[in-house]
Amino acid sequence: LHQFRAITRWNSTTAAEQKEELTAQELADKGFKGHGMLAPFTAGWHTTDLHPLVIERSEGSYVYDTNGRKYLDSLAGLWCTALGGNEPRLVEAANKQLSTLPFYHSFWNRTTKPSLDLAKELLEMFTARKMGKAFFTNSGSEANDTQVKLVWYYNNALGRPNKKKFIARSKSYHGSTLIAASLSGLPALHQKFDLPVSFVLHTDCPHYWRFHLPGETEEEFATRLADNLEKLILKEGPETIAAFIAEPVMGAGGVIPPPATYFEKVQAVVKKYDILFIADEVICAFGRLGTMFGCDKYGIKPDLVSIAKALSSGYLPIGAVLVSPEISEVIHAQSSKLGAFSHGFTYSGHPVSCAVALEALKIYKERNIVEQVQKLSPRFQDGLKAFSDSPIIGEIRGTGLIIGTEFTDNKSPNDLFPPEWGVGAYFGAECEKRGMLVRVAGDNIMMCPPFIITPEEIDQLISIYGEALRATEERVK
Ligand code: PLP
Repeated sequence: LHQFRAITRWNSTTAAEQKEELTAQELADKGFKGHGMLAPFTAGWHTTDLHPLVIERSEGSYVYDTNGRKYLDSLAGLWCTALGGNEPRLVEAANKQLSTLPFYHSFWNRTTKPSLDLAKELLEMFTARKMGKAFFTNSGSEANDTQVKLVWYYNNALGRPNKKKFIARSKSYHGSTLIAASLSGLPALHQKFDLPVSFVLHTDCPHYWRFHLPGETEEEFATRLADNLEKLILKEGPETIAAFIAEPVMGAGGVIPPPATYFEKVQAVVKKYDILFIADEVICAFGRLGTMFGCDKYGIKPDLVSIAKALSSGYLPIGAVLVSPEISEVIHAQSSKLGAFSHGFTYSGHPVSCAVALEALKIYKERNIVEQVQKLSPRFQDGLKAFSDSPIIGEIRGTGLIIGTEFTDNKSPNDLFPPEWGVGAYFGAECEKRGMLVRVAGDNIMMCPPFIITPEEIDQLISIYGEALRATEERVK
């Protein structure tokens, strides 16, 4: 490893390195014309690449590119295609709804049957505590933006105009609209966007391996974080803090399950100061962690919940906010006095998205998806965690069907590889070469396969991971 430190950059021909070698003019001269899309979460130099990976078709746990190459899709699209790439019942549900009523809205006390049915179904399925109402959005970001408006409306109705600040956590991901990006605790989402907005504060990331003090147990770490949260609340003034938002398992920030007793302790703190608890279940809901919701796994009793992604197995855009009866009653009473609750989207409760989501929920129940994930997860978790002793892996962490790998030197959270080595990117490219797509974020690798992945496909995933790891170790040696 130390020998490798002398090498300043990979001698590689991947596009990632081309950006350093070629100017825009040189790229143009070489015939890199670029495409017309301003692509999300994509570097500018990437869009001048003639060869973005273009996915054309999907089947079960696999996707195929335009050259017919097959990839095991270890991230289920973007943590969403829980039922895999070609579930005919979802297609049929969409077709049926499209041919009956492709669109009608839900404004002004007009609505559609699929949206009413889906609201009822979600309220029945969420049992961590009783929820009162479901509000529909098109995405997880819109769900989290909606959370802020609901909470502000609620506090205004209660005559608490100063109780408006939100506390989120470092490394969280809550989406990319102005407010959702502000709630997120990832610097890349803030830099150059003048974010976060001023009413959003961030508290500690609950990552035990990275942040615990020498000799500190997980429980002691959780106590310290809950104490820090309380200190922040007291410093700001509890009368100014409206809500705390958390993913049960942090996803895009690197797959970070909470330390033991964490949620019990932070819930006690927020309750003490009459601060609402928002569970961002956009990744965790519908079985991902081996429980129907992340709240079930960690004993979370939230006031508000955000869901999206697996709600429709990613087949159509839809998100939702579940609202406690206490909050929804205040909102109803206030809007009866003042006029309409003036918030919503053209496609809130889109009938085709709702029809597909209803079918997805039906399938999760019929196929006992929670049990299925529980059965598959030891093979997945143990199989991958067996690589933990690799000299270039700092930590492998996860639960259910979600897992993250962090590459560091000397098994230490503090000995990061120089970013220009691109260790994570190299590993990702080695996986891709062998027919598997993973999520790479710096030196973090994330995997979150469809719930329908078979034991044999898990073995294939582990085998490709192992080969890519060996190749990466060789490179770093
Ligand atoms: N919240 C969480 C926990 C997420 O993981 C995501 C997306 O990855 C979002 C919110 C944002 O969802 P969307 O991309 O649908 O806006």
